[in-house]
Formats: sequence, structure tokens, C-alpha cells
Amino acid sequence: MEIPDPFATFVAERDKDSKLPKYDYFAKEWSMITACCETELFAANRKMLTKIRLYHTRNECMGGY
Ligand SMILES: [Zn+2]
Repeated sequence: MEIPDPFATFVAERDKDSKLPKYDYFAKEWSMITACCETELFAANRKMLTKIRLYHTRNECMGGY
């Protein structure tokens, strides 16, 4: 049986309702909820997540403007 990491649990609880990028200690990836349409995005690191978010907002939610 795996014992949950108290810090990871704390972070998950704290960030549960946050739309800021957050790190998933279990999946080992970053995720965030976009402000534009509340789609959940995932990336291997925070820099990629920002790129994906910008791409998403610009091309998928604003039609490329
Ligand atoms: Zn969107």
C-alpha cells in the first residue's frame, strides 16, 4: 500500500480550486485550467505549459487573431 506524500496532498488540496499552473506529483506533469474556456491543459514542464496555453488561447479560443 502506498502512503500519500503529505506535502503532495497539501499542494493538491491548496491548488484544487486554483486556475494557476500546478504540478501533479503523481502524474509528474504540469496542468492548469484555462481562463478562456476552462479546458484543462497538460505539459511536461511549466515553460511548455505556458506555450500550450498561449497557443490554445490564440488559436483555439480566439480563432487565430
Ligand atoms: Zn480556451
